[in-house]
Amino acid sequence: MPAGTMKAMVLRAPGALAWEEVPVREPRPGEVQVRITHSGVCGTDLKIFKGAIRVRHPLIMGHEMAGEVTSGEPGPGVRTGDRVIIDPMLFCGICFHCRAGQTNLCPNGRLAGRDAEGGFAEYLAVPASHVFRLPEAIDSRTAPLIQVATTCLHAQRQVPFFLGETVAVLGLGVSGQLHVQLSKARGAGTLIGISRSRFKNALAEELGADVTIAAGDGAMAKVLDATDGRGAGVVIECTGTVSALADAVRIARPGGRILLFGIMNATEASLPFYDLYFKELTLINARAAKPEDFAGVIELLEQGAVRLEPLVTHRMPLGDLETAIRMVEDGPGERLKVILEHI
Ligand SMILES: [Zn+2]
Ligand SMILES: [Zn+2]
Repeated sequence: MPAGTMKAMVLRAPGALAWEEVPVREPRPGEVQVRITHSGVCGTDLKIFKGAIRVRHPLIMGHEMAGEVTSGEPGPGVRTGDRVIIDPMLFCGICFHCRAGQTNLCPNGRLAGRDAEGGFAEYLAVPASHVFRLPEAIDSRTAPLIQVATTCLHAQRQVPFFLGETVAVLGLGVSGQLHVQLSKARGAGTLIGISRSRFKNALAEELGADVTIAAGDGAMAKVLDATDGRGAGVVIECTGTVSALADAVRIARPGGRILLFGIMNATEASLPFYDLYFKELTLINARAAKPEDFAGVIELLEQGAVRLEPLVTHRMPLGDLETAIRMVEDGPGERLKVILEHI
């Protein structure tokens, strides 16, 4: 391969991915070059691939990526050669929200792999402030999941929580499984997981759920049974569907909190609105993550309070990106995270 070029998966138009040789962008002042070793594929990539999220083409997607710093100007605590996880949420640093510490809400913010070049490639130059060193205990092969976990941790930080409270998690995909673990790590009492998938319910039990319930008819009555008829103090909605939000309202206890973690695109809904009032429920939204969440997740992983390895069900080479994206589209089955190996 000629010097100064690399292999990358380039999205030329919706549905048109090509394995191409492209120029390597050298790091600018304040940036580091990262040789990407592993990346994760998620629903956002699928939406970009299909054109449901509009982007400028050509685009190199990929926002869940781990690698090794090869050059540039690393910041404190990171050296050339270190293994790192990349925070893909780029922000301006000088707007009202950034100065208020709400970098995740920066109106000039861009997500690498969606609004800026991403990591489905051999190299990616990123601000030195956006790489976090991976300690020995964290395997690069699961590290891309750290990015997903940061969005879960950021969301959990928004939810007032009392020690020993009952928590119900609706939807046990990758994020749901992370919320099970994070809730337990912060002192949840009875943890109830609800999924259509037997495989996902079984995994949630392995990761800390006390009770799991098969989604479907009668499921919400079973949740109430498991809480002596009272309901859960915290309900974490991870499916992004209105019907699950309605279920969340039904199974939350009076004075409870509902975290709307699944991204909901509906603009109209039928919901038990009166229950929101009568039970005095709090609805909490959370978007993306902040830099502090990377340090937080890395510590939780080092402590063993959160495990990523059981969430990886498939591995394939970067060149099979389209297959990986199609697997995300095909949905459930015994699939959680697909990790791409770049070398
Ligand atoms: Zn993602
Ligand atoms: Zn900003």
